[in-house]
Parts: sequence; structure tokens; C-alpha cells
Amino acid sequence: MKRIITIVGARPQFIKAATLSRQFQLLGIEEKIVHTGQHFDINMSDVFFDEMEIPRPVFQLDIHGLTHGAMTGRMLEEIEKILLKEKPDGVLVYGDTNSTMAGALAASKLHIPLIHVEAGLRSYNMEMPEEITRILTDRISNFLFCPTDTAIKNLKKEGFDYFPVKIIKNGDVMQDAAIYYTAKAEKKSNILNQIGLDKYIVGTIHRQENTDSPSNLRNIIAGLNEINNQIPLVVPIHPRTRNILAQQNIQCEFKLIDPVGYFDMIMLLKNCELVVTDSGGIQKEAFFFGKHCITLREETEWVELVENGFNILAGSNPEKLKTAFELFKTKKSDFSIDLYGEGKAAEKAALEILNF
Ligand code: UDP
Repeated sequence: MKRIITIVGARPQFIKAATLSRQFQLLGIEEKIVHTGQHFDINMSDVFFDEMEIPRPVFQLDIHGLTHGAMTGRMLEEIEKILLKEKPDGVLVYGDTNSTMAGALAASKLHIPLIHVEAGLRSYNMEMPEEITRILTDRISNFLFCPTDTAIKNLKKEGFDYFPVKIIKNGDVMQDAAIYYTAKAEKKSNILNQIGLDKYIVGTIHRQENTDSPSNLRNIIAGLNEINNQIPLVVPIHPRTRNILAQQNIQCEFKLIDPVGYFDMIMLLKNCELVVTDSGGIQKEAFFFGKHCITLREETEWVELVENGFNILAGSNPEKLKTAFELFKTKKSDFSIDLYGEGKAAEKAALEILNF
């Protein structure tokens, strides 16, 4: 039986891992999950394991609230111990967080085949901690599962054709999750009753380039306050952003709620008028649920959404935000184009993993 160790630690990784874990069970691949502890609140972590029926982590590292270096270093040390003991056939990492980096380094230095899911993404913005993780993790991986053609092109531009690595375009596992969990969300979520709004916009803000720059954050909130005068805005707010808003005394006139579980998020996205976010995952989820998205960043890894007119990059500029809002208020788009594999990404990846 093939034995895989999966490293997760942050909210989007739980959602991605849910899709592959289910496929591993179907194919008889043994998976043990390491939860680094990077996200640890009930509503940033436990709720996803419960709702999405992700196997409970076998190893809980409880490492959080440190600087990037300290966090990654401690995770590396602990993951190495686990890998030395477990000697798995492969280590699986997702996306672009400190947990990804620590898992990737630990595995590759022990010569354990390293599998990166959501490989090849680039923003070409080296100030993003995520971009550094993506580049380094891709370079030391043995299997790169890419969600899009752009991701494959990015790797080719960096010379990956010459490296001993297998590159596979499998699609986006987040679309698998959106498709699989929507019926469950419809049954279980009560969020629409709780917010009690017929028409609303849903938003999120947590990217470091926005939260760590008081002027960017002020500009964004000013733009969002204006939009909220026309259509009410609901923002499940990341705990870090909530703290910074309080510290900086920035007033939000729109509805702030605590982070919600995935089922609630699906329902908020499925029924909204528009999405405004700096999240990577939510830009795609807007598209999965047939919604336009204004992205509060200067660039995106998901360029196909912008190229097809589904997404506009507004950065932290309130004027651009307003212009994009006015356009999307009336725009109708056909969202039926297949950009992300139509829900087969985890199955494809798991079959490759079974047979490597
Ligand atoms: N999400 C959620 N509840 C929230 C906010 C986000 O379930 O209150 C989900 C969202 O639907 C998406 C994932 O978390 O699937 C995205 O995570 P995040 O925005 O934290 O990270 P990113 O995608 O930017 O790496």
C-alpha cells in the first residue's frame, strides 16, 4: 500500500486536502495528515475538518503566531522528525504557505518524493511571501500538479523542462471541492437567514500587502464603504485583519462577521451579487459560482479570469474599485467556459500518485 504524508496548516489547504483525501480513501492509498497549527481557531481550522469530513490529523504541531522564519524553522524541525520515523513513499504539500515550505524542505532533504499540488502559479511579485514559497517548492518537487495552462507555461519559462520533475496538468482541486460540497452546503448552512439580506456583495481581506500597509487598508475600506451605500457588503473578516482594523482605528460601515465555515462561504458566494477579495481561492470560487470578482491586488496568479472579463484588478485604489463595481453592476457574462478541469483534478492527481 502506498503511504503518503500530507502537510497542511492554513485554511485553503484544508479545503484542497479534503478533495485528495477522499480520493486516497477510494484508491486505498494510506494518508497521514500533519497539521502544523499555522491556523488554529475553531472557525479557521476545526470547522473544515468537521464539515468536509477530512481525516483527523495524526500529527498536530501547534506552531503559530511566530515570524515567518521562526514558524518555518520550527515546522521544519518537527516535520523532519515525523518523516524520519514514518518513512513515507511521498510527501504532499499544497499551495504557498510556511507549512508548504517547511514540508517541502524536510521531504526533499530526506530524498522523499515531494508532490506539490497547485504548482506553477506565479504573481511575479517577490514581495509576496507566497511567491517565494511557490518558486522554491516547485524547484525542489518531484511531481508538480498544475491547475492551469498558464501554470505549465510559467514552469517552462523557468526551465523546468530541463529538471528531473514530472509536470502534470490536473486542473484545480478547489473546483472539485466547490462542486462536491455545494449540495451539502445547501442542506446544512443557515448563513443566508442569519445575514437576512436579499441582495448583497461578499468580500474578504487578508493579504499581507493590504493588511500590513495602513494606507492600502484605509483606501480599500474607504472604497468598500462607498460600494456598501449602493449594495450592502458582508465581510467574514480574517482575525489578523480584524486586529489591524481595530489598532488603526479604521471604521467599516459594512457588515463584518467572524470567519465562516466552508458551507456558509459556499452559500454566501452562490447567492451574492458580486465578490470583492484579495484571496487567491475566492477569485476562482467567484467564477465557479458564476459571479464577477473585483480583486484587491495589483496582480493575480489566476490571469485567465482577468483575460476572460470575469475579474478586474483594482489594487487598493478606491477609484478603480468604484469603476469596476459600476461595470459589474450590470454586466452579464457566460461563465460556462472550462478553465479549471470541471471537478476532476483530485481524481487525476490521486491516480498519478497511486502509480508513481
Ligand atoms: N473561506 C471560508 N470562510 C471564510 C473565508 C474564506 O471558508 O470566512 C474559504 C474560501 O471559500 C476559500 C478559502 O477559504 O475556499 C480561501 O482561503 P483564503 O482566502 O484564506 O486563502 P487564499 O486562497 O488567499 O490562499
